[in-house]
Amino acid sequence: MNLMRIRLNLDCPRCGGALFMEENEESVTIYCTRCGLRASWRLRDAARRALRNIDGSLIFDWNSVIDELYLELAINVH
Ligand SMILES: [Zn+2]
Repeated sequence: MNLMRIRLNLDCPRCGGALFMEENEESVTIYCTRCGLRASWRLRDAARRALRNIDGSLIFDWNSVIDELYLELAINVH
């Protein structure tokens, strides 16, 4: 199983807790370890939004995925 988890340099918009991003074979998720707030995309949807063609090379732009998932978290706060 291929699992990646990193601590983001962002705080939870609901409680201020630590945010993590987790990627597995099916989805990419950011979530708060304190209050459980989360936002998730299927990996193929994330790829469709985040792949960039730069001089003929496909680059996966993780920063834009994190930015958009963070906006979804902010919307889900209430
Ligand atoms: Zn939280």
